[in-house]
Amino acid sequence: RADVQRDFVRQIIREDLASGKHHAIRTRFPPEPNGYLHIGHAKAICLNFGIAREFGGWCNLRLDDTNPGKEDPEFVEGIKDDVRWLGYEWHDLRHASDYFDVFYRAALKLIEDGKAYVDDLSADEVREYRGTLTEPGRNSPYRDRSIEENLDLFRRMRAGEFADGSKTLRAKIDMASGNINLRDPALYRIRKVAHQNTGDAWPIYPMYDFAHALSDAMEGITHSLCTLEFEDHRPLYDWCVDNVDLTAHPAMWQSVVDAGLEARPAKPRQIEFSRLNLSYCITSKRKLAQLVNEGLVDGWDDPRMNTLRGLRRRGFTPAGLRLLIERLGISKQNSVIDYALLENCVREDLDATAPRRMAVLDPLKLTITNLPGNHEETLTFANHPKDESFGTREVPFAGTVWIEREDFAEVPPKGFKRLVPGGEVRLRGVGIVKCEEVVKDAAGDVLELRCSLDTESRSGMPGADRKVKGTIHWVSARHAVAAEVRMYDRLFNVPAPDDESDGKSWIEHINPDAKRVGRGWLEPAAANAEPEQRFQFERLGYFVADRVDHRPDAPVFNRTVTLRDTWAK
Ligand code: ATP
Ligand code: MG
Ligand code: MG
Repeated sequence: RADVQRDFVRQIIREDLASGKHHAIRTRFPPEPNGYLHIGHAKAICLNFGIAREFGGWCNLRLDDTNPGKEDPEFVEGIKDDVRWLGYEWHDLRHASDYFDVFYRAALKLIEDGKAYVDDLSADEVREYRGTLTEPGRNSPYRDRSIEENLDLFRRMRAGEFADGSKTLRAKIDMASGNINLRDPALYRIRKVAHQNTGDAWPIYPMYDFAHALSDAMEGITHSLCTLEFEDHRPLYDWCVDNVDLTAHPAMWQSVVDAGLEARPAKPRQIEFSRLNLSYCITSKRKLAQLVNEGLVDGWDDPRMNTLRGLRRRGFTPAGLRLLIERLGISKQNSVIDYALLENCVREDLDATAPRRMAVLDPLKLTITNLPGNHEETLTFANHPKDESFGTREVPFAGTVWIEREDFAEVPPKGFKRLVPGGEVRLRGVGIVKCEEVVKDAAGDVLELRCSLDTESRSGMPGADRKVKGTIHWVSARHAVAAEVRMYDRLFNVPAPDDESDGKSWIEHINPDAKRVGRGWLEPAAANAEPEQRFQFERLGYFVADRVDHRPDAPVFNRTVTLRDTWAK
């Protein structure tokens, strides 16, 4: 869609191609493998992978694994799976840890150039010396160490001679800078923690800004797209890229070539865009992890979670998510998007792609009295009302069917268009039935409706077009397959669970009714579904066969979304 999307990022890219600054576009998506991806990440994925695809370039998936201890190979696998599920494939899979040797050599070069020093200040002291937005910082007493001393100390940091937190390597930039990120930011810290990719090889780890800028440069990324909170980091990003200058120092990245990885260092440009924030959602990995760890949900893929795994299990479609991101576009404007917009995009996709089936969730028995007791036939139904390519299916029909209890009212409210005592309604695909008798138990509860079928009203018969007020769905009682049906709703009952200005923690806004498990009765063609197959259950909503628990002989369906926006505030 390069031709239709005219946002400022694509505009910059077009200009860079037109001017000859770049001949190919290279992007990357750089998640930290410390959790599963969430709906916010879908925006960064669609942008980075989408733009690369549109302009005939490529996008790397880079795992930003510079925080050992919090990261886990399970999350790496989950991230790969989620990116593919959204419909994208990476050019290369990289890890920031693939470049640990490059970062180390780059740090040595900065020290040799007098641009970095080893500092002995504690974390608290560093904070104290840093100053504030209105007060300049002060130089560390260790700032003027000689190049030789810095080289010696940094090599010994790398050799593991010093305790965690006792020293850092800092860039020597400007303690009086108006941008706090430039007040001698840390480049390396000591952390004797095993790393998910490099094990115990390194007792020191690079800081995010340093590692991120150099990783982009290493891979020849042309446009490094990130969220707005990194805007103030851009001068530091550029400082790292320019002062290390990988393009001029091939020896620095020999280890990457030796490891068989493609290396093509370049000078990337960072461009910031606004985050995706959705109402009724939490988009912080830390909080999502808390929901999982405290057992408030049934895991990262709980259909109530706005992780990509959760949305997937809920039945949301990759195309629906991509549609949302495309509609929202890219800008530098921060805003909160209404959750209903996401649901509408998913509905729009499902309306076009989900075959129709019939299911009854709250059954009431309806017996047709003027058919023989053993009557049985097979009706042919279109799978999609607007698209013949979906074909047809056979739906078994017998004289006793389940209808939805709420499709009958003994005392109808005003405007009720369904079945009432003595009234008529069309049974979808069968014909018009008239309610002759309401059978109740001793307590007065309705047990059964006894109805007559107008046999002239069946399709193909002369009375087929006779008008009645409503059409209802049904399932043949003899053929129905019982299913577990999980009804999901929004996980939070306020639009901004993160807003704690009311003195309540976000945890207190969890919607206790977000999951209700019930039973339903399905026509056989619905029960006989593959896990993850999606349907519209007529008049009820969109449902998906649960990708973990569903089996054709023990069906489990999740409600993805209702047919219309029915969410009352
Ligand atoms: P969290 O704060 O939940 O840990 P994060 O931003 O630290 O999220 P990363 O794994 O670092 O998570 O994110 C990978 C990429 O996804 C980054 O480039 C980040 O800017 C982008 N991203 C994360 N959240 C959003 C969001 N809500 N909207 C758009 N992009 C996002
Ligand atoms: Mg993070
Ligand atoms: Mg991050």
